[in-house]
Amino acid sequence: HNEEAAAKAAADTGAPTIFDKIIAKEIPSDTVYEDDNVLAFRDINPQAPVHVLVIPKFRDGLTSLGKAEPKHVEILGQLLYVSKIVAEKEGILDGFRVVINNGAEGCQSVYHLHLHVLGGRQMKWPPG
Ligand code: ADP
Repeated sequence: HNEEAAAKAAADTGAPTIFDKIIAKEIPSDTVYEDDNVLAFRDINPQAPVHVLVIPKFRDGLTSLGKAEPKHVEILGQLLYVSKIVAEKEGILDGFRVVINNGAEGCQSVYHLHLHVLGGRQMKWPPG
């Protein structure tokens, strides 16, 4: 799997990621939702008919969920709520999945916290 290879190659160094460039609009993305704190855009390699990434605009040390601290509780809640807004906008409120990959073994390849919102097809359980 490409994703697994990418995840193994990536490391949580705290360096800027491609998502900083997307937030700064230095590289294009297909925005689904944006507010002062949160950006949601379509995944470039969709794993379902709807596949949107929901990210904090200010990473603030949140390279991954495993780095969460008490100061991040408010943005974590906002990210989850925006995932619901995205599902509503995309018409998949009746069935969707929110995923956070954490670390190499969790298949994380971009070290800027992001929630995957997936839907538009029958999802399977357990995930791989
Ligand atoms: P994985 O790559 O294993 O899915 P992550 O959970 O870190 O690991 O997900 C990063 C996601 O970012 C991937 O789904 C990938 O397709 C997506 N992505 C990478 N670059 C871009 C980009 N420029 N625009 C939109 N999505 C991107």
